Amino acid sequence: MAAVSDPVSALHRIFGFPAFRGVQEQVVARVLAGQRTLAVMPTGAGKSLCYQLPSAMLEGTCVVVSPLIALMHDQLRAAQAVGLRAATLTSVDENRAETRGRFLDGDLDLLYVAPERASTGDFRDLLDRGRIALFAIDEAHCVSEWGHDFRPDYRLLRPLLDRFPDVPRLALTATADEHTRADVLEQLGIPHDGMIVAGFDRPNIRYTITPRDNTPRQIADLIARTPGPGIVYVQSRAGTEKMAESLARTGRPVRVYHAGLDASVRAANQAAFVESEDMVICATIAFGMGIDKPDVRFVAHAGLPKSIEAYYQETGRAGRDGDPAVAHLFWGAEDFARARQRIAEVEPARQPGERARLTALGALVETAGCRRAILLRHFGEQPPETCGNCDNCLNPPAAVDATQVAQKYLSAVFRTGQMFGAGYIEQVLTGQSTERSLMNGHEALSVWNIVTADELRLLKPVARALLLKDALRTNPHGGLEFGPSARALLKGEATLPLVEPPKRERRRRGAGGG
Ligand code: ADP
Ligand code: ZN
Repeated sequence: MAAVSDPVSALHRIFGFPAFRGVQEQVVARVLAGQRTLAVMPTGAGKSLCYQLPSAMLEGTCVVVSPLIALMHDQLRAAQAVGLRAATLTSVDENRAETRGRFLDGDLDLLYVAPERASTGDFRDLLDRGRIALFAIDEAHCVSEWGHDFRPDYRLLRPLLDRFPDVPRLALTATADEHTRADVLEQLGIPHDGMIVAGFDRPNIRYTITPRDNTPRQIADLIARTPGPGIVYVQSRAGTEKMAESLARTGRPVRVYHAGLDASVRAANQAAFVESEDMVICATIAFGMGIDKPDVRFVAHAGLPKSIEAYYQETGRAGRDGDPAVAHLFWGAEDFARARQRIAEVEPARQPGERARLTALGALVETAGCRRAILLRHFGEQPPETCGNCDNCLNPPAAVDATQVAQKYLSAVFRTGQMFGAGYIEQVLTGQSTERSLMNGHEALSVWNIVTADELRLLKPVARALLLKDALRTNPHGGLEFGPSARALLKGEATLPLVEPPKRERRRRGAGGG
């Protein structure tokens, strides 16, 4: 399909699209000019077209490195559907010999391979004997240890790329913070001015972030006020089943999706969701990749996502049609504690990156400011301070200085020996006498009953914030102990500003309303 003269007519002719979207034109132009490029484009922005179109215009084959076989086969079908000559070369393909032959004959526009195959000697020999138009490296953030999805195999691509220095390379990713981007450029040998970043804002998505407090009920409420299809992300497979059971009571059709289900059940549930106009699917993060459903009206997270990138990508599945959609995240302090535990178990070289990612998430959930601004700044944009379409912009929360309560809380943890759970600490701070507190002799402590009536409402948020900030940690038995940032708070060298917690029972009406 070579020798189409200009990109726009190729776009019409091959894809039937009237125009390029956003940065596509810029990216395609660079590729056609043989320039090395990193395209950072959000999911749904149309990354694949950026190499598919040149693959049809340039002599030779575009070699696409892609990390997931399932995704590759989706892309293969899509490429073939528009008439591109495409093939995959993976362990599950039985026609590998035929594919090699087609490549050597110049009969392929696109050849999809996994990174582990791309880095073999066999593959290098194959490329030596054929004609390569372009290297496209999909999900390029996988090359960076800073990225949230590091794949050591991606590191082996560089020698292959460098063997063909004149072949243009196009790296693509939807999810890379500034640090990761710089690393990707470095690792793949792309100049800094070769980076093109598309706008990340999804103005029709309303971001809301709330502490967890009976999640099934919270999500049922969300469903009740949000018609249309929605995704509920739950962290465990068992959790998705339980959530589905509980949400079935809302009367909406509910299905489950996770990797533990039979492939046929998974496929059926996914298909039913894609077709439905009101279904709620309770899923692990295994769900969503490669799914084309523009009218998803809400994405709820029943727990903390892995990173801001993951959050953006998962919530980005809402409202692709541009109509209003909701992204609602429910989080708990234990999410942060668990994440920290996981970080402690990864190899030391990756810990700083993981910690930075968790800190960024912490900033997003605890901000009293605009959520969108935090998200977009994370992706390197300079957004306005307010967006008018997130919980905090719509209902600016009052700020309150909780430093004193935090000090009391930490003192209680310390004086009781850093071994009791949050429930007991609260009991001590509020002076609720029990057999246990009596036996422990804790009623004689200076921290016994020192929380004032006005401070009561801050106890739970303070505990949450202390865990989030790593001033408190949970031991394996559920007991609270000091983390590294406890001392500064106790000594008054750090403060704890908090968002005023919602007043559930109290109605705000007039001055006497509190
Ligand atoms: P990404 O890989 O960035 O998530 P895709 O490449 O899957 O995005 O494209 C998302 C959708 O947008 C696809 O359905 C694709 O056909 C469509 N698309 C891509 N480019 C254009 C365009 N220029 N005009 C109209 N639709 C487009
Ligand atoms: Zn906002």
